[in-house]
Amino acid sequence: MKIGVLALQGDFAEHIQVLKRLGVATAEVRLPRHLDGLDGLILPGGESTTMGKLCVDFNLLAPLQQFGQNQPIWGTCAGAILLSRDVRRSQPLLGLMDIRIARNAFGRQVDSFEADLDIEPLKRATHTDAPYHAFFIRAPIIEMVAGNARVLGSLPDGRIVAAQQGKLLATSFHPELTSDTRFHEYFLSFVHPS
Ligand code: GLN
Repeated sequence: MKIGVLALQGDFAEHIQVLKRLGVATAEVRLPRHLDGLDGLILPGGESTTMGKLCVDFNLLAPLQQFGQNQPIWGTCAGAILLSRDVRRSQPLLGLMDIRIARNAFGRQVDSFEADLDIEPLKRATHTDAPYHAFFIRAPIIEMVAGNARVLGSLPDGRIVAAQQGKLLATSFHPELTSDTRFHEYFLSFVHPS
């Protein structure tokens, strides 16, 4: 199994570290040909406008959309924004997930926070019971989930922070910044090595 991490901008190195810790082969993706032979892809956190523009500059938008037609992709924070169809403003998006996002929905960088989430599919897949402690850094919320997309996790007040659509996963928080590897394990459970 080999998992790529989009490495144009943002905290791709942290994702690669977690994957390595789980014994998974990794590749940094900067060009369309770097997608060859990958079994899944992670879009990291960072700044979604910049990441989207770099995808355009590096001719990655269409190859990533193509990849996501049948391979698993997981976007964390800015990566989740990139996966979405709608952010109510104009910026390059992959548009693969039927979700509408509100960027920076919790305020500014200083309003970053942590919260415990109860995500049943995650607990089931990893045979664990503890809530998932999530880090939100200038995070988006998922305002609307439509079509085949499903809510995966919400804050206690009901705001959606994780969604899934088949093998596509969007989280508005940052599992790559914690020592809890369960979200990476959950994503890897969608991956069927070629
Ligand atoms: N605020 C960023 C954006 O809207 C996302 C922040 C993050 O990835 N931590 O692109």
